[in-house]
Amino acid sequence: MLTIFPEFFPPYFSVGVIGRAVKREILIPQVVNLRDFTLDAHKTTDDAPYGGGPGMVMMVEPIFKALRALKSSEVRGRGSENFNSDLRPPTSGLRRRVILLSAQGRLFTQENARQLTAYGELVFVCGRYEGVDERVAEHLIDEELSIGDYVVSGGELPALVVIDAVIRLLPGVVGNEESTKDESFSTGLGARGSELGVTVPPSMNPHLRPPTSEQSKGILDYPHYTRPEAFVTDEGEEWRVPEVLLSGNHATIAKWRLEASLAKTRKNRPDLLSS
Ligand code: SAM
Repeated sequence: MLTIFPEFFPPYFSVGVIGRAVKREILIPQVVNLRDFTLDAHKTTDDAPYGGGPGMVMMVEPIFKALRALKSSEVRGRGSENFNSDLRPPTSGLRRRVILLSAQGRLFTQENARQLTAYGELVFVCGRYEGVDERVAEHLIDEELSIGDYVVSGGELPALVVIDAVIRLLPGVVGNEESTKDESFSTGLGARGSELGVTVPPSMNPHLRPPTSEQSKGILDYPHYTRPEAFVTDEGEEWRVPEVLLSGNHATIAKWRLEASLAKTRKNRPDLLSS
């Protein structure tokens, strides 16, 4: 991570999924303070925009120098045996990928997370203020990624979002690896449907049709419930777990979950079902 707020990261590297990956040395975080690559006594990393306008812009020079320093150091390979080489894009012999976090970037998806597991080192350039001098995007990075159609104050949280999404796909990070194979955006409707033996004539229910090849984004996860079986509110209202989940009939449960996944996808993300 290249950042002007290095203090932002340590808490995230010690807890939860990312914390576990760090402990097991599957993730070896390196936080680089861009102020260490400045020229003046004030350690300035930003300046006013050419052409006028509000705010400040992060300068190209500290980022250029920090990246050059990183490049001259060896890629740290510990834990690299855990990276999934099957997913490495055929054109890429690179082990390092430099990513600029930016609201103007390509929208980051689960598929991108999967692709990024192929790299041994990910370098994140975190912007602040009005953004980063465009020459960084033009000359110094491999891609610009956006975590969503909104603007946050800096690239640090977006970098952590990307790191978390990538790291949890690596073997040995999430407790039960099955959970990363069968979750939102991961399982295609066709795969899940055929696995469960659910064959509904397309003419009867258009929403259960298998997706076309372009629909590789997967559908949303099914709803989860845990104890108690019946939760009673202060007003005496009873909220029950769907009866089918208590039946012990795995085939019926699987079918219910697929249909519930589809219902949720239709309601919240119909774009995932359209070609
Ligand atoms: N002026 C910029 C724009 O309108 O696109 C927003 C700059 S934002 C306040 C400061 C920094 O936060 C950006 O340089 C970028 O690193 C990060 N950032 C903000 N929104 C982001 C998003 N949706 N995805 C990734 N990074 C984002």
